[in-house]
Amino acid sequence: MKAVPIHKSPREFSDLSCQILRNANRGILRRDFLSGISRLIIDFSGCDALEMRLKERNRHYRSEMIRGKKLAFRMEVIPEVKNEPSEIFPGPGAKTDLEKLCAFIIQSLPPSSLSGIVARGSFWIGDTAKELKLPASSPVKLRGNTIRIGGEYKSLLIIPFTVGIKDISLILFKSKKANFFGENEIPLYEGIAQNLGVALVHRHTQVALRERVKEFTCLYGIAKIVACPDISLKEILQNTVELLPPAWLYPEITTARITVDRYSCRAPGFAAGVSRLTAEIIVNEITRGRVEVIYKKEKPKLDEGPFLREERNLIDTVAQKIALVLERRQAEEDRAGLQEQLRHADRLATIGQLAAGVAHELNEPLGSILGFAQLSRRNSGLPQEVDRDLQKIINASLHAREIIKKLMVFARQMPPRKTAVSLNQIVEEGIYFLESRCAKSGIELVRKFLPALPEITADPSQLHQVLINLIVNAIQAMPKGGKLTLETLAKDGQVVLIVRDTGTGMNKDVLKKIFTPFFTTKDVHEGTGLGLSVVHGIITSHGGSIKVESRIGAGARFEIQLPIKGFGATKENEQNGKDS
Ligand code: ADP
Repeated sequence: MKAVPIHKSPREFSDLSCQILRNANRGILRRDFLSGISRLIIDFSGCDALEMRLKERNRHYRSEMIRGKKLAFRMEVIPEVKNEPSEIFPGPGAKTDLEKLCAFIIQSLPPSSLSGIVARGSFWIGDTAKELKLPASSPVKLRGNTIRIGGEYKSLLIIPFTVGIKDISLILFKSKKANFFGENEIPLYEGIAQNLGVALVHRHTQVALRERVKEFTCLYGIAKIVACPDISLKEILQNTVELLPPAWLYPEITTARITVDRYSCRAPGFAAGVSRLTAEIIVNEITRGRVEVIYKKEKPKLDEGPFLREERNLIDTVAQKIALVLERRQAEEDRAGLQEQLRHADRLATIGQLAAGVAHELNEPLGSILGFAQLSRRNSGLPQEVDRDLQKIINASLHAREIIKKLMVFARQMPPRKTAVSLNQIVEEGIYFLESRCAKSGIELVRKFLPALPEITADPSQLHQVLINLIVNAIQAMPKGGKLTLETLAKDGQVVLIVRDTGTGMNKDVLKKIFTPFFTTKDVHEGTGLGLSVVHGIITSHGGSIKVESRIGAGARFEIQLPIKGFGATKENEQNGKDS
């Protein structure tokens, strides 16, 4: 091959290498980097086209810049070929003669004796119309061992170089002029190619480092938000969603939204976009919401789609962090609720003891007052006025005795007389007395009884009392009429009675106090504040429990659970059962 004088000095080659490395320092995306570098090299070398066949971290890319009226650049990611030995690119499936030559160059490293292949494995030819004879031992499958590249480019220079430790890539310089490259230039272009290999690794490291820094800044920001004392969940979500766009590759077109249950918060400028990445927020195997990151405008696709693999990992991590926050909040709420319940039960037990003592102390003097008043009335010849007054004393004493009886039920001083009973029957009997009162007050009564409800062991008259107290309260809460639903069902070894009204409802403060003896919101003649205390005393002495839900204006729902006969009844209950 005829030597052509060197177009550029070694100094200029070294300047080009520096420019390539400086470009790598900028940490720009692969496509932008390759396009910029191709332009530099084409301008520098004066060739008409520059092709790169790159292998980087097990992925194959092909880029080409062609000199025309303008410089046209394109890059493609070549899908992985199964079973292809990872060091070979292009693989054994090479189709055109140029591809076969490329495969031969890569596979014959260290270089073969083919003319145009120098010690470092580069190949060049000054007239592509000529036939080339590959050595008989070539691993590339050929018919007759000859290839002819042909085409519009007369001169071709192919240089292999490594990216990283073992990934072999090729750079192809193409010129329409024959004998464009001189042998003396080859080592200098090889130097450029080797620098390109280093620059490609450096570029990737720079990009990866910058993305990692963004990712960690985001995660550190979230950790700081979550650690803030007294911060509300809404504030956590809002602050977190604002940290997301800067952590993505194109912050200027990125927006985000976090949705939890029915609440959603958005990063500034939220709008529907062209590409969307989502991760679900899963708490205790239940999907509670999602994190969404959106690109508002189209951007050139990356090797792995519109988003980086690291970005997919990041959004998953953010969703998991939010799930953890939700889980922790839920646990804290549960614990606080349980503590409040314990405190409440404790308070009621103390009041119960106190009430029992007072009732006991009052019972005796009250008995004397009642007895003597009744005795005195038997005297004949009492003035009418005195007789009336004595009757008033008797009435008041009887009323006081009723209250004391209720207090004793609440304090569980009156042991229940238990038998096997059907709750459906008890409820039916209880309604019987109050049905007409409901009708008078314009209240619709709805029964939802579970047929064949399992039996319970209970004191029927005490359960009647429970039912009457609950229904009277419901009637009083619906002065303008409404709907009263009585429902029975069975679950988890318990029978359940639900009494639901559409009345005035209660606020949180009232709800907290309803089981406390003498707590009432009613007028003196309407309520004593003992109805629900008695209900509580009776249900507790039956080994059961009560739940109340209510909101102002939204009615009230009382749910009573009692153990099914033979299901988890306590020793105390069984003992009480035997007493009866
Ligand atoms: P009383 O009915 O004598 O006031 P209770 O112990 O039965 O005493 O009830 C305590 C308080 O609970 C009532 O004063 C009322 O404020 C509230 N309450 C009970 N049941 C209901 C209900 N179904 N709807 C609204 N408030 C209720």
